[in-house]
Amino acid sequence: MKILVTGGAGYIGSVTVERLADDGHTVVVFDNLERGHREAVDPRARLIVGDLRNPDAILDAMRAVRPDAVIHFAALALVGESMEQPELYFHNNVVGGFHLAEAMRKVGVRRIIFSSTCATYGIPDQVPITEDTPQRPANPYGESKLQFERMLRWYEIIHKLEPVFLRYFNACGATERLGEDHDPETHLIPNVLRVALGQSDAVPIFGHDYPTPDGTCIRDYIHVLDLADAHVRALETPHLGPYNLGNGQGFSVLEVIETARAVTGHPIPTRIAPRRLGDPPVLVADATRARTQLGWTPKCPDLHTIVQDAWNWHRAHPHGYAGSKRR
Ligand code: UDP
Repeated sequence: MKILVTGGAGYIGSVTVERLADDGHTVVVFDNLERGHREAVDPRARLIVGDLRNPDAILDAMRAVRPDAVIHFAALALVGESMEQPELYFHNNVVGGFHLAEAMRKVGVRRIIFSSTCATYGIPDQVPITEDTPQRPANPYGESKLQFERMLRWYEIIHKLEPVFLRYFNACGATERLGEDHDPETHLIPNVLRVALGQSDAVPIFGHDYPTPDGTCIRDYIHVLDLADAHVRALETPHLGPYNLGNGQGFSVLEVIETARAVTGHPIPTRIAPRRLGDPPVLVADATRARTQLGWTPKCPDLHTIVQDAWNWHRAHPHGYAGSKRR
């Protein structure tokens, strides 16, 4: 198939592009390189540098490529940032999404695999979270993703788009070549590994008085390779989801840090910091639907493996992609 991947220079996008190219698909990446990295784009893929906030840029790309399907990663994805600058999230994720949907409608491209998120559920009444859990986002990031889900639903009904909704839990891990490199980095595992690399003194623990066994937030950490696998399956499924993508097992912030100590052999000091606005206490997936309808089974569910893979990448790329050239 010919696939247009928005955000294919980003973390999950670049790993999925690598997988698509391995599978023999023709891949065109559309990315503004604002937060993604040219070096992360697989050399087998063509890169179009463009911004979804510009309707002409994505329409021109859609017309030029005429893909069989779109995989849409390009978005801002930081809970904390969204609580300070919600406007960025509505502009990039909702307005940008609208331009993408319009370009698809105008060119007649139907299938879109959309990177949605567990943040659309907000603070759930019960865990694990099924896809039927009410969506009540607790931050503008989750809200922006939910708004685009809803927009796509109407495009499905009225314009016959075929949106497949993938709601990721916490993406992590790395491949040999590709890993997580955000600036600023706010995610837990890379922040923990930065301390192990000696690039930071201590990991801030954002809140230790949550209603969880050790007082720190619990998340469902899912390997980026398993996420990539779900996208490949979503390309051809007759179902549209939505699908939760997680391991179904939750780990607290302290458990992640403990695992990283075991993997790295570094003591990894911590310091207690205030809660981060917009953080739900517990997010754990029930991914039964993805398992049954997509035949998806996470191959790297073990937290030790996930942290080990991330550690291997961060050790090999202590300054991220900076300085490396696109091969
Ligand atoms: N967290 C933390 N210290 C950090 C980074 C994150 O305590 O340096 C916490 C954060 O408050 C959340 C969990 O780790 O409870 C996972 O955060 P992350 O940003 O990795 O993912 P999110 O769940 O926000 O998408």
